[in-house]
Amino acid sequence: MKFQIEDVTVYFPYDHIYPEQHAYMVELKRALDAKGHCLLEMPTGTGKTIALLSLITSYALSKPSSLVKLLYCTRTVHEMEKTLGELKLLHRYQRLHLGDAARTLALGLSSRKNLCINPAVVSAENRDSVDAGCRKLTASWVRALAVENPNIPTCQFYEDYEKAASDAVLPPGVYTLQDLRAFGKEKGWCPYFLARHMVQFANVVVYSYQYLLDPKVAGIISKEMQRESVVVFDEAHNIDNVCIEALSVSVRRQTLEGATRNLNKMTQEIQRVYPQLELVKPPFLPADLVPSMLQIGQSISPFVFKH
Ligand code: SF4
Repeated sequence: MKFQIEDVTVYFPYDHIYPEQHAYMVELKRALDAKGHCLLEMPTGTGKTIALLSLITSYALSKPSSLVKLLYCTRTVHEMEKTLGELKLLHRYQRLHLGDAARTLALGLSSRKNLCINPAVVSAENRDSVDAGCRKLTASWVRALAVENPNIPTCQFYEDYEKAASDAVLPPGVYTLQDLRAFGKEKGWCPYFLARHMVQFANVVVYSYQYLLDPKVAGIISKEMQRESVVVFDEAHNIDNVCIEALSVSVRRQTLEGATRNLNKMTQEIQRVYPQLELVKPPFLPADLVPSMLQIGQSISPFVFKH
């Protein structure tokens, strides 16, 4: 169905709409007009995702000069795929009414574990191992060595993606992670690097909270996003946990004990080779600045040598 909310024509892909969905859209539209923040709460199963996607994409279609980009953050890959599935349905409906004027590029972005198509790499047991496996094949120094020595393995999907250069683009459409993998296989291009490249041109990007909230990842992926982006955090009550996770580092006791042993060994070796050096504790490091995790290691203490 198609209806007006003030100056925006809303395309909604179902024949019926709950009054709550309509009320939700009205508030959302006002928040977009005001370029402000908005906190909306609706019970599970009342169709908030489709209401939200319909209103924001219709808003962008009604006001092409506003150049709205939608960044939709979900907590899990399952939610990401579900959101993109709804977006596909909505996009089909908008194209039915508007034809090419409704052309859009929407895609999901996730880790290599969910996008890699190299069987030798993606079969690793966890996300970190897949990342490490990919880096071993795509690091610039590995690729440089492989030019001299063809026995050094590289990833053909990455090489072909690089070779295609500016031709490696996604045509307009809505792409779930599964669609990206299928497109990558068809073209022989790595879907992970292709998706990472295309997020800057997409009208809608669906990705996980970390891509915006974790400074280590956000600096690489999200720094090119326009300031006019509309950012949605689905299930936003998870934000504090995600921030805690992103800014925490886990260190195992064995790692600290190993570091202590190595530091002690280094100290002895330096004292043996340079007996004239005197070991002193730096006066500029107050005890409360030594991270508490180091204090677990007990015998680790900052040290310097001086003549
Ligand atoms: S470049 Fe792409 S396809 Fe190749 S190993 Fe890395 S993530 Fe997988």
